[in-house]
Amino acid sequence: MNKLAGIYVHIPFCIKKCPYCDFYSITDQSLEHLFIEALIKEMQIISRHPLFFDSLYLGGGTPSVLKPANIGKIIENAYRLFNILTASEVTIEVNPGTITPEKLKGYRDIGINRLNIGVQSFQDANLDFLGRIHSSNDAKKTIKWARKAGFDNIGIDLIYGIPGQTKKAWISDLQKAVEFEPEHLSCYMLTYEKGTPLDRDRQQGKFKPVADFLTGKLFETTMEYLTNCGYVQYEISNFAKDVHRKSRHNLKYWSVTPYLGFGPSAHSFIEFQRYRNCRNVKKYINHIKEGRLPVEEKEILNREQRMMEMIYLGLRKTDGININAIDEQLGINFCQIFAEKIKQLEKDGYILHIQPKNRCALSRKGMLFLDSIASMFISEHI
Ligand code: SF4
Repeated sequence: MNKLAGIYVHIPFCIKKCPYCDFYSITDQSLEHLFIEALIKEMQIISRHPLFFDSLYLGGGTPSVLKPANIGKIIENAYRLFNILTASEVTIEVNPGTITPEKLKGYRDIGINRLNIGVQSFQDANLDFLGRIHSSNDAKKTIKWARKAGFDNIGIDLIYGIPGQTKKAWISDLQKAVEFEPEHLSCYMLTYEKGTPLDRDRQQGKFKPVADFLTGKLFETTMEYLTNCGYVQYEISNFAKDVHRKSRHNLKYWSVTPYLGFGPSAHSFIEFQRYRNCRNVKKYINHIKEGRLPVEEKEILNREQRMMEMIYLGLRKTDGININAIDEQLGINFCQIFAEKIKQLEKDGYILHIQPKNRCALSRKGMLFLDSIASMFISEHI
């Protein structure tokens, strides 16, 4: 693997926990200082890494709750300790309600060139349901401030499938987002993650989730609406204004490209080995203080697992699975192994076999069934 790698930094703080979220974060920000110290030390321990990087991503949690000087420290140390190319993509996730025009100008000054804004919805009732701390107006202000601060690469995150949401209401959210001409849009379906308060409320019948057929319709609407507006869909949930505005960093996750992750709960993926840091800020700080890496789980993927990974992640992208790469890396003949499956799925209109590039991708219809199609390939082989 000689591709350029990515660096992910997990900021584990949020103002308030959203009831649907299962990302690791805490609301007690009194540990910010100790966390930053530990994070820099973690980077120092790994620092002589031979890889070259062309993306740095600050995610979370809510990175924009950090003191701007601490964000500066992270970026500065990342550049000092790793081979990060000059023209790298440097992204920070920000949430409306935690941002000011000054913070945004500061981010530009320290070299952040891409902003991902957690808008989720332009309708206050939806934001209330999602337990967000901000209003639709806060979101609009954040986008305007970001443009004013000079950001020319802005991504907006939206959520669909919120109880009570109609197709019309979802289109209105998409329309409002497109009016701001963001370079990137991520549209995620609301999911009920095990153990989250929202999932408990659903199980107790406190609200009625959107019916599956409507969620499917909303997904189709998203693809139709955004491609009509000129956006390029390059992954199930991700759309870019043009091919140069795809998220370089996130593409690494779906292309089985190496990345290093820092901070509690962050994952790293190098040479088909996956590492996961512990999901607890205090533990994380203590590990580092004692001179130990905070890795809690290490997994070395065997041949079957590598194939599963490459199939599942590849099918998420509209470019699909790179068959030549699978054949080369795993020493197999993908088209021969799955000849029957490919023929059938192609005939039924679920997948497209893109011949000149030798790729296998889901059709729009197939995208609705990503999980079941991926597992058909996998179960056939194992
Ligand atoms: S702000 Fe984001 S990371 Fe924080 S709790 Fe809400 S969804 Fe999760």
